[in-house]
Amino acid sequence: MDPYRRCFFTIMPRHLFSDATHFDCASAIRGNPQKQNYSVCPRHWYVDADFNCTRCSKEFTWTATEQKAWFEDYFFWIDSSPRHCKKCMSDRRHLESLRKEYDSTVSAARHKGATDTKCRIIEIVRELESVFGNLPEKMIETKDLFDRQILKAQQGAPQPPPDPPLVEFPMTIPTSTLRSTPAPGQGFCEL
Ligand SMILES: [Zn+2]
Repeated sequence: MDPYRRCFFTIMPRHLFSDATHFDCASAIRGNPQKQNYSVCPRHWYVDADFNCTRCSKEFTWTATEQKAWFEDYFFWIDSSPRHCKKCMSDRRHLESLRKEYDSTVSAARHKGATDTKCRIIEIVRELESVFGNLPEKMIETKDLFDRQILKAQQGAPQPPPDPPLVEFPMTIPTSTLRSTPAPGQGFCEL
């Protein structure tokens, strides 16, 4: 084994992976402390490490490659580590984006908002409610208000005219409507 990998566990401060449940030494790649955001202990090595998600409790792997990008491309503080698996992180980002969309549109929706904007607010509140259960009372009140407004608008809206009856093209044409072919010399246009 590469001597640097062999000494990984002796030179790598354990606190940098304090919550990890398992390591895969074969995955070790070198770190570049010059690119890292640290004060005392840089990360000389990155190694695949397993953690338990604090949200769903499932185990996930934080790969050495992901760590290198995390600390050297995005410059995260050197002691940081992920608490959530990828799915939970994605869910969390999605919920945060929903909350931002709600905050940025709800005020305009309350003041003469279009029906589709109000429908979108209702969708957002329902999705947030399905995840978090209890939401701020104001959000629920707003959803209920928009529900009532949309229902009222639908009930008061003029009904569209009924479709005209379907007229089928006749399969046979009554002979009475057919004009007989004029005999020679009796044509309408002959002089
Ligand atoms: Zn998770």
